[in-house]
Amino acid sequence: MEADSKPKKSGARLCCVCTQNRAALKRPKTLEQICRECFYAVFEEEIHQVILENQLFKPGERIAIGASGGKDSTVLAYVLSELNRRHNYGLDLFLLSVDEGITGYRDDSLETVKRNELQYGLPLKIVSYKDLYGWTMDEIVKMIGLKNNCTFCGVFRRQALDRGAALLKVDKVATGHNADDIAETVLLNILRGDIARLSRCTSIITGEDGPIPRCKPFKYTYEKEIKLDYFSTECIYSPNAYRGFAREFIKDLERIRPRAILDIIKSGEDFRISTTTKMPEQGTCERCGYISSQKWCKACVLLEGLNRGLPKLGIGRTQGLNSDGKKDRKRDSRTPSIESKQCGSLEF
Ligand code: SF4
Repeated sequence: MEADSKPKKSGARLCCVCTQNRAALKRPKTLEQICRECFYAVFEEEIHQVILENQLFKPGERIAIGASGGKDSTVLAYVLSELNRRHNYGLDLFLLSVDEGITGYRDDSLETVKRNELQYGLPLKIVSYKDLYGWTMDEIVKMIGLKNNCTFCGVFRRQALDRGAALLKVDKVATGHNADDIAETVLLNILRGDIARLSRCTSIITGEDGPIPRCKPFKYTYEKEIKLDYFSTECIYSPNAYRGFAREFIKDLERIRPRAILDIIKSGEDFRISTTTKMPEQGTCERCGYISSQKWCKACVLLEGLNRGLPKLGIGRTQGLNSDGKKDRKRDSRTPSIESKQCGSLEF
């Protein structure tokens, strides 16, 4: 949430909701002037309506909140625990974090998640790359350098989250992806010509055909409105990624036309995939059983490369490995896109 920093003239505007208090903020989405108290109430009520209208949760479900220690997931943990209590959703909520093993970044942000565990009384599960794959990101970067590190990290994170969710026996994972993230992803998928991802990146619930569905309660929430007690430094391995350019472009658009973010999401939702477009067939990895459209999932291919001292194996979006160790040029549509948002955030 950003306070309107312009000095107030005498006779400053009143909140457009309560018409009593002085407006303290201008909502980025609507440009409405609003007081702090009404902003919190409206913000939480909007999320509640999104949850109801999209039937994100059912009573009795176990829900893991993907928690990175960043602002989005911290606010999500707060809002979901608050709405669960206030509206009797009947959910069992958990925090689920992935420790990539990045010294000076993830170890610090995990401290924020541990604080959230105490603040909101939500049990926390941390799964680490070291335990799951035998490698930390520090070790991977030492071997491969800073060029494709986010490919490894993004692929491993997606699986790590699913594996952590399976350990917690949850029905769904809620992630803190916001409207800006989704608009960026729509643009990126258009720029990459990635029809498979374009067709699913605006869905508020994804992966219903996979191991554990994911949902995005902040799908329509602007990033500027999400700001609380959060950890905000960037990953030390953060590259000058393609996503960063899309992000800047969207910020420029937003400055000219605040609705642009929602308009891009709407455009993404309304794309129709031609029935003649060939979509990848989904199966399971022969090695680990994870969802994959090739014989081996992307994580197994990347891991094989690391363990064989051939880290470039499996890099590039059309190359995988067959179980005989040969390159397979079919594309794995379930592989997460290359760059995560900056970061600690969870791919979709
Ligand atoms: Fe991993 Fe994100 Fe850091 Fe890349 S920027 S190494 S995806 S945490």
